[in-house]
Amino acid sequence: MRRTEGIRALFDIDPLPARRWCWPTFVVPGTGVEREIPSMPGQYNYSVDRLIPAVERVIRQGIGSVMVFGQADAPKDNGGSAAWCPHAPVQEAVRALKRAFPDLTVWTDVCLCAYTAHGHCAPLRPDGTPDNDAGCMALAKVALSHVEAGADGVAPSAMMDGQVRAIRSALDEAGFEERLLMAYSAKFASALYGPFRDAEGSAPVAVPGAPTDRRGYQASYANPDSAMLELVQDEAEGADILMVKPALFYLDMLRRAKERTLLPVAAYNVSGEYAMIHATARQGWGDLDDLARESLLALTRAGADLIISYWAPFYGRLFGKRR
Ligand SMILES: [Zn+2]
Repeated sequence: MRRTEGIRALFDIDPLPARRWCWPTFVVPGTGVEREIPSMPGQYNYSVDRLIPAVERVIRQGIGSVMVFGQADAPKDNGGSAAWCPHAPVQEAVRALKRAFPDLTVWTDVCLCAYTAHGHCAPLRPDGTPDNDAGCMALAKVALSHVEAGADGVAPSAMMDGQVRAIRSALDEAGFEERLLMAYSAKFASALYGPFRDAEGSAPVAVPGAPTDRRGYQASYANPDSAMLELVQDEAEGADILMVKPALFYLDMLRRAKERTLLPVAAYNVSGEYAMIHATARQGWGDLDDLARESLLALTRAGADLIISYWAPFYGRLFGKRR
């Protein structure tokens, strides 16, 4: 059954097609900025003007959607108020993307951690603990500002309880019933987000009384049932798509999610997964493209309906020709 390329090709499954991929992008204030992120080779911080040609190159690969992450261009505060400024980099990027590529599906990440002075995903109470419900109210404002700018869908990543319901009702009340909500449902407190935090400037900083990490709200990798519960709750709260993040260390969760829901399940192939493959290849310990292809096919095999990945700009190189 494996003797020839032709026989193998008869029965091999294909990687998820490019149209079912999403490229996460990092937009920063200013103009003329295109700065490579040191821990993520081939990925850049872009100002809005430079983002457009970069996205055009990605669309040429057939990639179906992008997700916009941003940095604050105003002082950070306890509540992360710069996140819902209508003219912040994310909102401006969404407007520019929809103007340049009306048919491109544009998602936005909805969180506060790149905008709060302490780097947590919700405001902190005076005693330093994250305020879940105030977080939900702020996230709803952020999501609304993104869809007002034209986003097709929002993806709340703060892992606050009730955030999906809060955002869904805010969007519905404002007349955006048809905009999509992709829930970061099973977002684990992972050690794989380091390179991303370089790109976003969003690592938690030391504040008296405040937690030094996000384990108080992100899912525990040692408690898979609690992550499943988040998925079930997000579906009940009105999510349209459920996400598992990270992806490669959580293929079992991806598979469990697929078996539990009829909603599409997205796999977020995070910065640390991308960086570790690059690091291995740079050491000469493996071939970059072979490692990438094998890891990405694992996501397809586990049942991902949408792959959110930094490999998106390289889809043609990886999968253009049959291997
Ligand atoms: Zn966050």
